[in-house]
Amino acid sequence: MPRITKLTPIQIYRLLPKTNCKACGEESCMAFAIKLLNLQTSIEKCKPLVEDPKYRKNYEELKKLLKPAIREVTIGKGEKSVKIGGEYVMHRHELTFMRKTVIAVTIEDTMKQETIDARLDLVKKFRFEYLDKVLTLDAIAIKYSSGDPERFVKVFEYVRSRINKPLIVVSLHPKVYEKLGDLLKEERPLIYAATRENWHIISDYAKKFECPITVLHEGDPRYLISLANAIRKRGVEDICIDPGAMPSCLGYAVKTATTFRWLACNEDCELVGYPIVTSTVPIWMSNLDYNMKLIMEACLASVLIIRYASLLIMYSPEAVTYLPVTVLRENYYSDPRRPTTIQPGLKEIGKPNELSPVLVTCNYALTYSIVTSDLEKGKVDAYLLVIDTEGYAVDVSVAADKFRPEKIAELIKETGIENKVKHRYLVIPGKAAKLAGSIEEATGWKVIVGPIDSSDLPNFIEKQWKKIIESLQSGSSSQEGSQTGQS
Ligand code: SF4
Repeated sequence: MPRITKLTPIQIYRLLPKTNCKACGEESCMAFAIKLLNLQTSIEKCKPLVEDPKYRKNYEELKKLLKPAIREVTIGKGEKSVKIGGEYVMHRHELTFMRKTVIAVTIEDTMKQETIDARLDLVKKFRFEYLDKVLTLDAIAIKYSSGDPERFVKVFEYVRSRINKPLIVVSLHPKVYEKLGDLLKEERPLIYAATRENWHIISDYAKKFECPITVLHEGDPRYLISLANAIRKRGVEDICIDPGAMPSCLGYAVKTATTFRWLACNEDCELVGYPIVTSTVPIWMSNLDYNMKLIMEACLASVLIIRYASLLIMYSPEAVTYLPVTVLRENYYSDPRRPTTIQPGLKEIGKPNELSPVLVTCNYALTYSIVTSDLEKGKVDAYLLVIDTEGYAVDVSVAADKFRPEKIAELIKETGIENKVKHRYLVIPGKAAKLAGSIEEATGWKVIVGPIDSSDLPNFIEKQWKKIIESLQSGSSSQEGSQTGQS
């Protein structure tokens, strides 16, 4: 079967109904084929293909063609679920990576109540604003350490009642799964893990309660895969693998993960195409001092994210460990085909009021973060209208006709900025000066051309904006036509 990067839109198109009915939201079947190939839509959006029996064969063939090299596994149910795997390529630049590494924080069933609550709080409250995204933690791994399955069940019940996140059961002891019984069916946690010793029994629980399962085996990749495939033959489909990642076998784990990914993506070897689940918890069993453990866990997690971990079970009780890890994950899993963008809309800088300036900028993430940090540094209270320039910087978007006056006019209406300020002045970037007239025409607002460099904005606002406010307050507008702040 050809890899997705070798497929052409025509190969996809010939399997579609070719009626151009637009039910998928696209103008034509060819447009839908192109989006499918870019992984920007799903086959299921073509209702005729899915529902009409005459297309059944084509539907099945298309599903096979677009099947990911790394199988997709769902952990949890409904709102409390997360998908891992579903990857197509070895290198991000070949297409894109699909699913960010899921980060789970460990709770042990021997922990005191306040420690358990503190860890639940960490997962619930960890929010790091990065560009216009909020980075969070994703799951809880409950570790069986007490030797008392009943105690484990109580902790499991407590945790599941207190948090809306998918769960992972970390235990090699079949007794734990037996005691959990129907709770497994209700929560569908990831079972971690089946090993050489327990796999017969634990895979039976995975099958009976329809839970995904991780197969763990260190030191012998062939055996790991044969174990995973033996479990599959017993009727368990949702399987992940863990080649181990103790700091002492990190090189082996990275090499194994890389080899498996290569075989799955480039050699079409379905037998190794399982998502990788692994753990950084062993760092906490080492003799390192506390601060070194915080640091080493972040380092180890970073290596594993870069080398194909789909889910990481971590232990640190401190947000500081997760901060670099979640930022790295965000960047690594961004789509290389698109510039990093900010959601268009109205942003508030500081505490703007009805006399604060309204500035306009593009939605290229880097420009946005420079402009906002210049304004914040200068303690400017302002409204910032971020228009959709498809991720292009101001100068490029002006040249490419992406900094469009109509978009500014639409955004003014959509955001209700007219009701938030008393004036009708827009400050546009110096690099968009040539559009001043057409922006005034499209919006009906007067345009002031701001500085070329946003680091001059605070000074510019201080001098120019004060004059405008004074003229507004004195009831006379001396501002006729577009103004310029450029020297
Ligand atoms: S719904 Fe299917 S048949 Fe209709 S236009 Fe889209 S791809 Fe073509």
